[in-house]
Amino acid sequence: MSTRERVDEVASAFRERAGRAPDGVWWAPGRVNLIGEHTDYNDGFVLPFAIQRGTLAAVARRDDDRLRCWSREEGGPEEAELAEIGAARRDGWAAYPQGVAWALREAGVAVAGADVVVESDVPSGSGLSSSAALLCAVGIALAELNDGRLARSAIARAAQRAENVVVGVPSGIMDQTASMLAREQHALFLDTRTLDAEQVPLEVEDRELQLVVINTRASRRLAAGAYAERRAACEEAARVLGVPALRDATPADVDAAAGALGDVVYRRARHVVTENARVLEAVSALRERDFGRLAPLLEGSHRSLRDDYEVSSPALDAAVEGARTGGALAARMTGAGFGGCAVALAPADRVRDVEREVRAAFAAAALGEPEVFPVAPADGARRLA
Ligand code: ADP
Ligand code: MG
Repeated sequence: MSTRERVDEVASAFRERAGRAPDGVWWAPGRVNLIGEHTDYNDGFVLPFAIQRGTLAAVARRDDDRLRCWSREEGGPEEAELAEIGAARRDGWAAYPQGVAWALREAGVAVAGADVVVESDVPSGSGLSSSAALLCAVGIALAELNDGRLARSAIARAAQRAENVVVGVPSGIMDQTASMLAREQHALFLDTRTLDAEQVPLEVEDRELQLVVINTRASRRLAAGAYAERRAACEEAARVLGVPALRDATPADVDAAAGALGDVVYRRARHVVTENARVLEAVSALRERDFGRLAPLLEGSHRSLRDDYEVSSPALDAAVEGARTGGALAARMTGAGFGGCAVALAPADRVRDVEREVRAAFAAAALGEPEVFPVAPADGARRLA
């Protein structure tokens, strides 16, 4: 479906529900993290790019203080008075738009009531950040409709605040920043400590390469507990090393403290510090359009996540191995792990082989059917109508 058709469809869904036309339609993308996994809560480096899949938000201002939200995926209306939304956790999917309205107000935007209809083609809960797409689509809509002169990076921070405080998920700033700041044919090099962001060329087409996402569609049931355990291990390692965060340690520092850290914490820390180094290398390789140098970094990232950080899964490993068998230069799990997605970099003429071999690897391991689709680095959030 063309963008025009999707905009018309969400606008007519809005008219059916709200009984009037929307003031506008906005869109924000999901993202794939190319490299830099589990580094964000260690003040480290990440390198995500936005994808063409995203969330549409048709929105109209109201004269009162009510926020009414519908989702074409989750239903509605979910209604709330803006004044009753505070710095406290709320239930249900509408906590995302409600949280954004609250966080924008906290950031100084005079948010009025609104009717909101959202629709998404980012698979929910699979690590492509349908949550950031939802937060940022509603966030940019409410910011622009209420005359907010808020910078894109400030909308990203409001979206993160909404997710942390009102949804109650301790996410970092990567997803929201990628969704707000990404540019076509670029990855976003983000320093999660300083929030400095730099566009790095990711011009795969020029080299007849293609980025491919493999959605394992495997449940991420284990992810929440494991995430908390990994965060705690990183804090412990930083404490033992005497640094504010693992961002401040080198691989040599971590090796020197191996005995004091103990096997598990040592391996967790080693992943983080080597991953930060790989992101810096990857940025330098991309600036030189050197995909031959990028590939082993992606592979090294996967091995480190699998063996040291232990957040891969049989399905993610099958995705990576299948992609390599099919001719990909490199593949790695992306996102927090335990299911979700892998990303592969393949010669454009081998994409069909990659898909075939990934499906074969899943079948051989008696895993469910994966979803395999090409992605290209896309622009960030914007108004479409
Ligand atoms: P991910 O960001 O990897 O997709 P999350 O668990 O962070 O996974 O976010 C998924 C949640 O975001 C869903 O459970 C739902 O509450 C909310 N969400 C995302 N997209 C939509 C949508 N289109 N409509 C309603 N809720 C959505
Ligand atoms: Mg999310």
